[in-house]
Amino acid sequence: MRYDDSPPPPESASSVSPDRPWYTRRSTLAVAVAALAPTALAGWVLTQVLTGSGHDGQPPGPKALPASHTTGAAAHGGAGDAKASTTTPSPVASASASASASAPAAPAKGPLAGRTVVIDPGHNTGNFKHTSEIDRQVDIGTNRKECDTTGTTTNSGYMEAEFTLDVSRRTRTLLESKGAKVVFTHDADRPWGPCIDERARIGNEAKADAVVSVHADGVSAGNRGFHIILPATVKGGAADTSKIVGPSRDLGERIAGNFARSTGSAPANYLGSGTGLVVRDDLGGLNLSTRPKVFIECGNMRDAKDAAQLTSPEWRQKAAEGITNGIVGFLGG
Ligand code: ZN
Repeated sequence: MRYDDSPPPPESASSVSPDRPWYTRRSTLAVAVAALAPTALAGWVLTQVLTGSGHDGQPPGPKALPASHTTGAAAHGGAGDAKASTTTPSPVASASASASASAPAAPAKGPLAGRTVVIDPGHNTGNFKHTSEIDRQVDIGTNRKECDTTGTTTNSGYMEAEFTLDVSRRTRTLLESKGAKVVFTHDADRPWGPCIDERARIGNEAKADAVVSVHADGVSAGNRGFHIILPATVKGGAADTSKIVGPSRDLGERIAGNFARSTGSAPANYLGSGTGLVVRDDLGGLNLSTRPKVFIECGNMRDAKDAAQLTSPEWRQKAAEGITNGIVGFLGG
């Protein structure tokens, strides 16, 4: 990062707290990662150049990489907008929705009562059919960038946008059961988008206590595991993340620990030096947020082993549990 007050980079093993179970394996893991990182990173850089895939159309994580090239199908959009579809029932959420409907006047109970969480399902399954709309540039404060991107798919065609919506809905059900008010940036209730600046605005306007943008990565096979993307300190135009960098890191670390515990997945082996944490300054959804916010890349859709997990409803439920527990921990529930 070129910002003097940037937080320690994710490559630093000290960037994670020592009180979470998967960290107990970290010393061994760190050694292994330290040994593998140079070659893994070199390979990753090469595949990025060859495939042009990556989050938000740009190479994730490693600061040494140029953050300029854009991509096609595997590009990621960032956080987004929509009409806050807080109460839109979904098949997954219908049980809790009907249960709560029996006591409409009762205040929410549970550890997250009074808290608002915005969940941002990355991309939109309709984006593939609306490329002209999502390709238009929007202002992300520090730069201009595409409104949204299509997201990636597994090799068999399971769309990232399907995955993100499913995990988000499962997460909503769990959060609501703990008393939270949950706002979605979209809920398959619009043909495309929202744009990344809109996605950020929804979290801001909801005065969210925490915002999580759900994604899965699309890099070459052999790259595995999850990672959390944290906002860098950026300032420019409407972007000023100085107040959210600290709490967002806390949120991200808690989700990383809980996600690893719930799913059994390891932190990504291709970036973040085994911490599962990456800081980025090029995502509009983070740059424009005024609320604590992270992205989670739940796995690599282009790796067969990761894809087997991502396409499993049982695994997605575990993913939702990990995200939820991280949010609960962050909010002190
Ligand atoms: Zn994505």
